[in-house]
Amino acid sequence: MTTATLDVHPGVQAFLDGGTKRLLIGGQWVDAASGKTFETKNPATGETLATVAEGDKADIDAAVAAARKAFEKGPWKKMTPSERGQLLYKIADVIEAHKDELAQLEVLDNGKTIREASSGDLPLSVDLFRYYSGWPTKIHGETTPVSVPYYPGGKFMHYTVKEALGVVGAIIPWNFPLLMACERIAPILACGNTIVLKPAEQTPLSLLRLGELLLEAGVPEGVVNIVPGFGPTAGAALAEHMDVDKVTFTGSTEVGRSVMRAAAGNLKGVSLELGGKSPNIVFDDADMAQAAKGMFMGIFYNQGQTCSSGSRVFVQKKFFDQAVESLATFAKKTVPGPGLHPKAKMGPLVSEEQMNRVLGYIETGKKEGATLVCGGNRVGDGGYFVEPTVFTDVKDDMTIAKEEIFGPVVAMMPFEDEEEVLARANNSVYGLVAGVWTQDIKKALRMAQGLKAGVVWLNCYQFVDAAAPWGGYKQSGNGREKGPQAIDEYTQTKSVWVDLN
Ligand code: ADP
Repeated sequence: MTTATLDVHPGVQAFLDGGTKRLLIGGQWVDAASGKTFETKNPATGETLATVAEGDKADIDAAVAAARKAFEKGPWKKMTPSERGQLLYKIADVIEAHKDELAQLEVLDNGKTIREASSGDLPLSVDLFRYYSGWPTKIHGETTPVSVPYYPGGKFMHYTVKEALGVVGAIIPWNFPLLMACERIAPILACGNTIVLKPAEQTPLSLLRLGELLLEAGVPEGVVNIVPGFGPTAGAALAEHMDVDKVTFTGSTEVGRSVMRAAAGNLKGVSLELGGKSPNIVFDDADMAQAAKGMFMGIFYNQGQTCSSGSRVFVQKKFFDQAVESLATFAKKTVPGPGLHPKAKMGPLVSEEQMNRVLGYIETGKKEGATLVCGGNRVGDGGYFVEPTVFTDVKDDMTIAKEEIFGPVVAMMPFEDEEEVLARANNSVYGLVAGVWTQDIKKALRMAQGLKAGVVWLNCYQFVDAAAPWGGYKQSGNGREKGPQAIDEYTQTKSVWVDLN
């Protein structure tokens, strides 16, 4: 395992040395009402990185009250759309100016590699604010030619207005903490809402630093509130809050269900980005070198801790053995190491709990009769490293082919033809993403039509962009984040009638 790591950025060191991290409520950094704290760990070492105030219901209540106040009166409400856009652009600049520091903080708290944080999480976070900075001046309604059949000869004018929802609650996962938060904050603010954000308990640090930067950029008090805490306490309190107008959640399907139930109290809107068991399908007419990279990226990016991981790789029979060998060769060469090593290609899993969950799935795979081609073990005993793991002889009804593992574990399965693989790919309760590798354009487009997934990648994998909508079919969620669709998620339509008679 590689051990020499980058020097810790002075900004990160100052942040970590700055004592207990507090909650951001109404523009102020405050302790939790209970006085409780929790520790966040570096998954590469298991050591404590920082102590963080532990928000609970009382803190969520205070944060929602601050967000409501900022929404109803004060500078935020008075800002013109153009000013809101300029503020979003400024936030992008401030994040960009601190990109190295934020990338390192993310690596330390989450475990991901500095290469991925610097080339993926950070530029995308910046770009989300740039993309949505153009939106406030373009969120408009329509004039509608109404007829009113029960009022013959009547003359009316009708128009629609797209208005902000009010207070939005955002429950953020630990796999891309900063990126997922920016993906929510940017459109939510572009539409004129205010927000209460609940970071994942495993990874609160980059969002707390982001909170400082948002204040520095000039976000008025109460517009963005950040309350770290645990899911069943702070998270549930936010989801069920009677004065929150919408809740947006990314995480497991199981918790997504409970968020949806909690939202029923005041019938708040819900958008859910949940799990996946995504098919990555390689036909025998694919560019095999590209497909091999795509299979690797698809499953091992972020240690396999992505909702979009291509964890079911289907390869057409002729090339199956070759594909297994090529993925296993890549996997064996990829020894996980601390994410802060400049050349690390894979870091640790986010927590001991997650590591044990993934190792448990590997054991289940073996017990149910799948063949372990490579990997399968923990690496070292300090951090939470798991070897990239490849299984073959996997049947569609085995646990490792059905359940989301959220780790570096792939099930490789051969198939005969297009019809068979389409049916098997769609045979899942999930439908988040799918990948297809073929040089036959008609076949690629037929597959894109047939796959029941919210995102389809043809001859590529793991591509995302601020402008491209993201979300799942079936139990992978509802609603769409990113792109123009997120503007619809965070606005509501008012219908205005004018009597001209
Ligand atoms: P994982 O199982 O991979 O840790 P979760 O779905 O549990 O993912 O967590 C995603 C986010 O949801 C985290 O911010 C977590 O604190 C939060 N969360 C967990 N349980 C609940 C709950 N019952 N209500 C609301 N939020 C929750």
